[in-house]
Amino acid sequence: MKICMVSSESVPFSKSGGLADVVGALSKALASLGEEVLVVLPHYGFMTDELVATDIEHTVSLLGSEERVTYAKLSEPGVEYYFVRHPFFTESKGIYGPTSSSSYDNNHLRYTLQSKASLKLLKILGWKPDIIHAHDWPAGFLPYLVKQDSSRFFKNTKTVFSIHNLAYQGEVSRLDLIETDIEVDPLFFVGSGSEKRANMLKTGLEFADTISTVSPTYAKEIQTPEYGCGLEELLQRRKDDLVGIINGIDIEEWNPENDRLLDYSFSIDDLSNKARLKRQIQEEFNLEVNADIPLFAMISRLVSQKGFVELLEGEVSALEELLTTEKIQVIVLGTGDWEIEKQFTELGSRFKNLSVNILFSNRAAHLLEAGSDFFLMPSRYEPCGLNQFYSLRYGTLPIARRTGGLADSITDLDENPQRGTGILFDSMSGRGILEAVRRALAWWKKGRSVIEPIQKRAMAYDSSWTRSARSYQELYRKTQGGVTV
Ligand code: ADP
Repeated sequence: MKICMVSSESVPFSKSGGLADVVGALSKALASLGEEVLVVLPHYGFMTDELVATDIEHTVSLLGSEERVTYAKLSEPGVEYYFVRHPFFTESKGIYGPTSSSSYDNNHLRYTLQSKASLKLLKILGWKPDIIHAHDWPAGFLPYLVKQDSSRFFKNTKTVFSIHNLAYQGEVSRLDLIETDIEVDPLFFVGSGSEKRANMLKTGLEFADTISTVSPTYAKEIQTPEYGCGLEELLQRRKDDLVGIINGIDIEEWNPENDRLLDYSFSIDDLSNKARLKRQIQEEFNLEVNADIPLFAMISRLVSQKGFVELLEGEVSALEELLTTEKIQVIVLGTGDWEIEKQFTELGSRFKNLSVNILFSNRAAHLLEAGSDFFLMPSRYEPCGLNQFYSLRYGTLPIARRTGGLADSITDLDENPQRGTGILFDSMSGRGILEAVRRALAWWKKGRSVIEPIQKRAMAYDSSWTRSARSYQELYRKTQGGVTV
């Protein structure tokens, strides 16, 4: 199959979040399964990679005139990357804005240009894709533009649109929409009266042949008002064309048998060095060195999405109650909202068994994933999540809220003692978190002979991209055949 990916970001060239990991890893994994992949990305001003200029040049209609576009290129086995060159991108220091918390006010134009340019590029190359895979709101107009194309070039091309984060929708005022030189369709819009705005994500969802998101549970959750960000009715209407495919991880970077950031390695056959790493953590993070005290880690952006409000709220918070009533150790590694940072820091100064580290450290993240006994992830929502995969891979049992990708990758030990790999809880409250941790402790108290086989089971979980890429292949085939997914 010929697959064209269109995305605003991809590792190793540009990254603001999980979208970049998915596009980068999925493209390579599909190539290694024998697919032909062409990826179209913007050439941002901050990119320093060795790219080769091409002599491809064309214009794109925008702002009532013709904008000149050129390309740089990079070829890897099975994957061709084309980078759209236009001052919109080459003169920008950031992806969506000058800083990570701001956005350019012409983003609707920047990414419309990328979508239009992608289609022209394919025609110039004579590269007829079986599938165009558009990612998130920046590529939202693309499925519509393919349907609207009057040449016969895309007559056998189907489109897949992926949601990585439903919360970002790319809304455009009616006035700004005129600048895109796109023939307007009523399905672009949300709201009514003076509130009526075009919505790039919604457009993608309306016109794509099929839709995917990053976990099966999240695919169901986004059809409800609680998680649907206003698009739940549309997603319900399209539920037969909507599928959830869980992400994979980089199993080379996160490999207990060969982790360049760790002093000791271990494997499913021999966990003895995991205990050494725990000792190292207890020493480095100023905790009592004692193999018998269960060690809980949290590595996260310190934001409300991740459940920290519930963990820390109340006169005696759930965390405080745990630290006082249970013989446990807790380590927090994260940065984020000032209020959450402050609450953790204050608790950290009062409890000897709590280590609070307000910093971003990849080495510390690897060490904590590898040497801890449990990993706590009480997220309110989690489209897919990554940390639970890392935890499973290092035999660090995850305790997580039953939502999104967490629900799909962890099996609860009490519900399924034979296959369990961690603890899942439902109630989004301090009490819910507390009870989940206590259930984990009940397992811990059963002793090494019970915990070790569970750790090994967790380590056997397949979080490779190959598995996910196979699911995408199946989605592409069904999309091509015009059958529901
Ligand atoms: P999200 O993308 O919502 O932040 P994920 O679980 O999908 O959550 O991914 C978070 C990633 O960022 C993980 O790889 C995690 O290890 C990493 N991370 C978050 N905070 C830190 C930190 N303070 N230090 C090191 N790594 C961190």
